[in-house]
Amino acid sequence: MGERLLGHTVLVVGAGSMPSPEPDAPVGNGRAISVACAREGARVVCADRDETSARVTASLVRDVGGEATVVVADVSDEDGCAEMVAAARDLTGVVCNAGIGRGAGGLIGTSADDWDATLAVNLRGPFLIARLAMPLLTVGGSFVFIGSLAGLQPGSRLPAYDASKAGLIGLSRHVALEGARQGVRSNVVAPGLIDTPLGRAATRGRPTRGRTLVPLGRQGTAWEVAAVTVFLLSDEASYITGTTLSVDGGLGLI
Ligand code: NAP
Repeated sequence: MGERLLGHTVLVVGAGSMPSPEPDAPVGNGRAISVACAREGARVVCADRDETSARVTASLVRDVGGEATVVVADVSDEDGCAEMVAAARDLTGVVCNAGIGRGAGGLIGTSADDWDATLAVNLRGPFLIARLAMPLLTVGGSFVFIGSLAGLQPGSRLPAYDASKAGLIGLSRHVALEGARQGVRSNVVAPGLIDTPLGRAATRGRPTRGRTLVPLGRQGTAWEVAAVTVFLLSDEASYITGTTLSVDGGLGLI
């Protein structure tokens, strides 16, 4: 056990991991982030719309000696966001990880409903969570929004997804500036191609995704996303706010 988040309480929104039929399926980012925070001593509030999935994460948190609370709620629902934030006592960190992609690709393949559903989870939810959590945070508190390389350059071929992830960077910058007055930081982690159940599902839908040449020669793991998230939540990152940190094996270079 490390001690970088000792005494912290971290709310992880989207702490589950998309169910997978594969027996050796990798973990999703939210699950890895929850476990990695617990390994550094944090209490973790595991919030997800999928109860079974959130409970699996909570039990993995307990397996590494951590304390976990489960909240079953939907981040696209305002009351659901309030339940998530209310479940966390002495909150010090918030990770907004839940993310979806909707539509068949391209402008013509994206309906207004696809757009609204994507933005509701990927951008409106994080805004609502930030609005509710900000008054509860004090000096040393921090937000980490899990964005995407697709928010920095064309990526998913889903315009709603790309736009939502670009919007998240704008939201985080605002949160960083507003939070600075009370010593609260906000940053975005922008993963590239990460081998998670969601990543594998995306590759099944668009096989060229799996053939993308990444400069470091492989996809990333959720544990690599989690390590950066823990760093940004911790006091080691005490002078970092308003930034976007890519975790992409160099994909953003090409
Ligand atoms: P994941 O395993 O599907 O994890 C996301 C979790 O959030 C799931 O448990 C999901 O539940 C939950 N969730 C979805 N919608 C929700 C809602 N409305 N309310 C509450 N919880 C909700 O996916 P992941 O691959 O780890 O991705 C996590 C984040 O990383 C996303 O924001 C994604 O955009 C970002 N990202 C991933 C990659 C990649 O290559 N994997 C790359 C760049 C960025 P359900 O299973 O019920 O949907």
